[in-house]
Amino acid sequence: MKTKRRNEKTRLLLTLELAVILPAAALVILSAWHVLHIQRDRAVEAAIQRDFSQVLAISEKQINHKAYELVDDVRTDLPALSEACGPSLDKILAAHPYAAHIFIYSPRTGMVFRSQSDRLAKDGGFRDEADYLSKMFDAWLKMDFSSMSEKLEHYQKKGSPYIFEAEWVSRGDKRVYQSTALFLTKDEKKGSPAIVGVAFDAEYLHDKFFPEMLDDVITRNVSDAQTDKNHAAMMLRGKYESTALAQSSGWDGGAPEEERNLEGAFPGLTLAIKLRGTTLAAIGERFARISFLTLAALSLVLAGGIALTYRNVTKEMALARLKSDFVSNVSHELRTPLSLIRLYAETLEMGRLTSPEKYQEYYRIIRKESERLTALINNILDFSRIEAGRKEYEFRETDIAELVRNTLDSYRYQIEQQGFQFEESIDTNLPAVPVDREAIARALVNLVNNALKYSTDEKFIGVKLYRENGVVKLEVVDRGIGISRRDQSKIFEKFYRTGDPLVHNTKGSGLGLSLVRHITQAHGGEIVVESTPGKGSKFTLTLPVAGASPVSEARA
Ligand code: ADP
Repeated sequence: MKTKRRNEKTRLLLTLELAVILPAAALVILSAWHVLHIQRDRAVEAAIQRDFSQVLAISEKQINHKAYELVDDVRTDLPALSEACGPSLDKILAAHPYAAHIFIYSPRTGMVFRSQSDRLAKDGGFRDEADYLSKMFDAWLKMDFSSMSEKLEHYQKKGSPYIFEAEWVSRGDKRVYQSTALFLTKDEKKGSPAIVGVAFDAEYLHDKFFPEMLDDVITRNVSDAQTDKNHAAMMLRGKYESTALAQSSGWDGGAPEEERNLEGAFPGLTLAIKLRGTTLAAIGERFARISFLTLAALSLVLAGGIALTYRNVTKEMALARLKSDFVSNVSHELRTPLSLIRLYAETLEMGRLTSPEKYQEYYRIIRKESERLTALINNILDFSRIEAGRKEYEFRETDIAELVRNTLDSYRYQIEQQGFQFEESIDTNLPAVPVDREAIARALVNLVNNALKYSTDEKFIGVKLYRENGVVKLEVVDRGIGISRRDQSKIFEKFYRTGDPLVHNTKGSGLGLSLVRHITQAHGGEIVVESTPGKGSKFTLTLPVAGASPVSEARA
């Protein structure tokens, strides 16, 4: 029997392991490996990067376009070459403050270089810059005029008349980024070519043009591409510099996600873009962290599920075992009184008994055994009604003292016959209690029966009925084998019997206490056990008192 049970358990464990735990563990390990190795969602990252490089390309176009417009304005104001002398250039500079310097060079008339006159007067650094640029362009164009004008002519034919020359120049002790637009113009009368240069003011670029342009392109491009307008920030820096020359609002430092070296109006500069307040790597890490957490949570749920399944299955197995024990116990318990009854009836039938006392004794045994049968069958019937949810109780105001006394009376003889010392203490003047007489009597009989069954050396049964704090308590005490703490919580479950050898050798169905509990709870009361193994047990059944009216008044 034992080995069979062990086999069942091994089979269950094996099934659980193969069917649930192994696949679940494999799933968890695989997912963890997956998350560990992917680290972040590369596809999303690549998409954002692709998006960003597009944004940078479009932004460069827009920045160039704006610069071309500014130079276009200057170009349309430019007089014909024959009149293009210093004063007219000064006028143009006055009308376009974003241009710091403007010059016209033709091989015939040489270099005419003008700068913003008020700044020339005030700012030494600006003067140095003007000086440096005029000399540099003069020297360069003297040498390279023809090739440069050919190049410009070629560009003009292609539709963009400008070539920009940029460099970092000194303005006092500062180094500033300077970009100069060069384009071709012609002497109207003679048709001889000249090259015009319009140099953007470095401060205008740094303080106004670049920051405004960056904010503008961010709003125009990023808000289209991303749903969140404040999603990204941009920065502009010299190709070989690490510090920013200009930045859009919301640039928070840190490594850019994507960069682009500018051509066109601002060569030598690099445009950079990054996510605002975060980086793709951080997003990736967050993704990985969330995945890990989700995985951990799922694993926990899975483990919990497995534990729960295991517990339930074990419980079901235990119940199935208890049920099969129950069947054999009950059959046994039915068989014994039946064979006794048959045996004594047969003896009586033969009429060989000598004394009338013997007859009396045999009749009594037959009655007692049939009572035991009835009690057992009643228990089983009650139990099956309870299980089917069909058990009904009939509550009636009852003199509980009288009910208990009557029930015990029919047992007293049997108790004393078995050599038990019997103590009965029933308080008088107890209130009437609404109970189902039959059910409460059955509960008491079950408790007394257990006390009889599970006592060995010291044979004592005490029954006490008293009132305490608005409830009526019925106590059944014995000095029998007792119940271990672990079993105390289980004995009220159906079919449960403890592993004590005496219990094993005593007939029983494991239903009695579960019935007692059901009956008590149906009465709104409770049943508790206090017990010490080897010393004895005390079962206390508590019944609430409804109207709390004393029996004498109720009768009156
Ligand atoms: P049964 O007596 O038919 O086995 P019960 O439901 O009445 O079923 O009792 C359940 C189990 O509780 C018993 O098998 C026994 O192990 C334990 N038990 C009940 N009453 C006592 C008691 N008075 N002393 C010791 N053990 C008890």
